[in-house]
Parts: sequence; structure tokens; C-alpha cells
Amino acid sequence: MQNQTSKTPAQDAVLETTFSALGTGNNIQLYRYEDRIAASEAMGRAQERVLGLHDRLSVFQPESELSLLNASAGCGPVPVGEDAFHLLSESKRYSAMSGGAFSITTRVLSALWRIHARCGTVPSRAEVEHSLSLVGDEDILLDEIAKTAELRRFGQSVDLGSIAKGYAADEVRRILAEGGVRDALINLGGTVVTLGRTRRVGIQHPDRLTGIAMGRVALTNACVVTSGDYERYYEVDGVRYHHIVDPRTGYPARSGLRSVTLIGNSALELDAFSTVVFVLGAEQGLPLLSQAGVDAVLVTDKLDVFCTEGLSENFELL
Ligand code: ADP
Ligand code: MG
Repeated sequence: MQNQTSKTPAQDAVLETTFSALGTGNNIQLYRYEDRIAASEAMGRAQERVLGLHDRLSVFQPESELSLLNASAGCGPVPVGEDAFHLLSESKRYSAMSGGAFSITTRVLSALWRIHARCGTVPSRAEVEHSLSLVGDEDILLDEIAKTAELRRFGQSVDLGSIAKGYAADEVRRILAEGGVRDALINLGGTVVTLGRTRRVGIQHPDRLTGIAMGRVALTNACVVTSGDYERYYEVDGVRYHHIVDPRTGYPARSGLRSVTLIGNSALELDAFSTVVFVLGAEQGLPLLSQAGVDAVLVTDKLDVFCTEGLSENFELL
């Protein structure tokens, strides 16, 4: 998922922060702003915002709202805050829009695969079938008025790993802009948002060391998000098992793509769509992107690279 960002030779970041949250390393760099103190404070607030989202949304935080929701599956509604409510309802929307390719209820499958990854084994068909029977984002019940969420069936479980970073990146951009920041580079574990001048952002080569790019795209006030099979995976008998699950099969998605990089204006939307397209493949995925006005660079199993028409001027193969 590593979008390596090219160094800007002209100028070093004037203000910068690096911190861990949402299961990844995060970096915010400010280059231009109206007022140094206001910008520095905005950067602090942005970091606090991401750390707050982590505390409330991470399923690896036992007391988070999402952990409490999962622990209450099949037992009725639990109160959730505005962020969780928003992301749960957006997730349901992307799930419906993608015919279920995007399903945050795949958490039961992700958990099964994670255990096997640790042991270097592959789950049995019966194990996969059992977990698969618990997948279905229509079982996430939301009450707008009561601000509650509920998982309909016992044993169901959700995680926001495929959408939370995008939302967090949008929030960071909003907070910085409100603080008078005019030029900045936001990188939340490879989910990149730029503010201000045009920057070239590298697209990670699926088979090379982190930081080695296979292409570059020029971005002006834009977001770039990648889903790929190379960041988190394990191998058994030469077969690669990665972390994006196809909710239709219960197995890691095999749609003919190694990575999907999307360029657009909303990091949340790109984060959801990158998972969708990675699961559905180019043929079914590209029409959804063109409807949404999102541009893409796709790397196939054969390492062929395609980009959508909107990028023809801005994409450079290395
Ligand atoms: P990354 O987390 O590497 O940035 P993604 O945005 O594609 O990549 O999200 C992958 C994460 O989303 C997984 O680690 C898992 O928690 C969850 N997930 C896996 N498969 C799906 C899916 N089909 N729909 C929604 N979420 C998924
Ligand atoms: Mg995603």
C-alpha cells in the first residue's frame, strides 16, 4: 500500500509530525500556511483527530465502539458515536453499490485467515464456509435517530480497515485547511492527500522493496489510495494469500489485479473503491469508477499497467 512520495527538491517541510495510528505509520508535512502558530496548532489537532478515530474505531482496541459492537453481535443495538455511525452507513452503501464485493462483515474471514497466516496453513473448506455464512453487510442495522448500531446475528463482526484511513485523511485535510494551511502533504500509511502545489507521487512496484516505484502520478489538491496484494500476505506451497477477501468466495480476491491505485477528491471514497475494484477486477470495477469520476492505475497479474483516460497526461511509467 506504500505510495512512496517523491522528495520535493525545492523546499523541506516547514512543520512535520510522524505518529502511529490505525495500524500504520502516519506523516503530515506542512509547506505553506497563513500563520505559523495557527498551522502548528491545526497540525496538532489533526493528529489528535486521527488518534481519536483510532481509539474509537479500531477493532484492536478492546474498548473501542467497534469492539463493543462486535462483542454485542446478536444481542441488540449499542450506542455509537457520529464517526462510527457515518462509516458504518457509508460501508453499507459501498457494499450495496458493489454487489457485496465490499463487505466490512468479512472480519470473521479476515480473522480466520489471520490465524492460519500465523501457523503457515490454509483454512479448510468447512472453516471458510462457516465464516462465509456470517458475511453480509445488510445485517448491520443502523438507527439514525437513536444513533445505535447492531449486528443482527451472533458471531458476526466488522472492521473498518478498508475505509477508516481514507476518512481520517479527509479529516486531516479539512482541519489543516481550516487552520490556514495552503500547501501540505498528508500520508496515512500510503493513503496520500495533497494540498496546494502539484506533486509527483510514486506508485509502489508490487514485487520490489517498499519505496521502489513502478510509476508516478502528478497530483494537485488530490488524494491517492492503493489496494494491493503485496503489503500483507503469506505463502503456502507457492500460493500467495493476501489480506483482501472476496466476500463471494471467502478466499483472498483473485481478480487478475496485483494493485489498484485510485486518484480523486475524497480519500474515503477512494479507499472503499480501491477495495471494491481489487475484488471485482478491471472489467466489473472500471464502470463503477467512471460513474463516480475516479481515475485509476491498475497493475495486472502479468505486471501490465493500465491507466484511465483522465490520467493520460499525469501518469508516468518508470
Ligand atoms: P489496506 O488496509 O492495506 O490499506 P484496504 O483498504 O484494501 O487495504 O483494506 C483491507 C482491509 O479491509 C483488510 O485488512 C480487512 O481488514 C478489510 N477487508 C478485507 N477484505 C474486505 C472486503 N472485501 N470488504 C471490506 N473490507 C475488507
Ligand atoms: Mg480500501
